[in-house]
Amino acid sequence: MKDRLEQLFEAQAELMEKMGIPVVPIPNFSHMSLAEFPWLAEGAMGIASEAGEVLDALVAARQNKPWKANRADEEYQAEFIEEVVDVLFFVLEVCILVGLEPSGLMATYRDKTRKLHKRIEEAQNAKS
Ligand SMILES: [Mg+2]
Repeated sequence: MKDRLEQLFEAQAELMEKMGIPVVPIPNFSHMSLAEFPWLAEGAMGIASEAGEVLDALVAARQNKPWKANRADEEYQAEFIEEVVDVLFFVLEVCILVGLEPSGLMATYRDKTRKLHKRIEEAQNAKS
């Protein structure tokens, strides 16, 4: 049985195929030209753009504009979460485009998490 991360990767690959985005990993990643692989550039821009929309959704909720006074908190939260998921779409797309599989993403995530724990502990130890 596939785990949820694998299911997300599959769902994203299916969406990419429907959109005509190649699901084949980009070869020679370290020496590539972005012009040769526009989908990777589009994916990276998508992450940044959607991250901006996450921020916009947060700002919109905090500003509480008078013309949105009747808007329910749930609507703001739903909009915010939808934008977070939009970021996830592009993160998954970029992973697929560079050939990073769910197991590789998990391993990289765990490595990075260990590094962050270490940095935090070193900073805390330096204070004490
Ligand atoms: Mg969006």
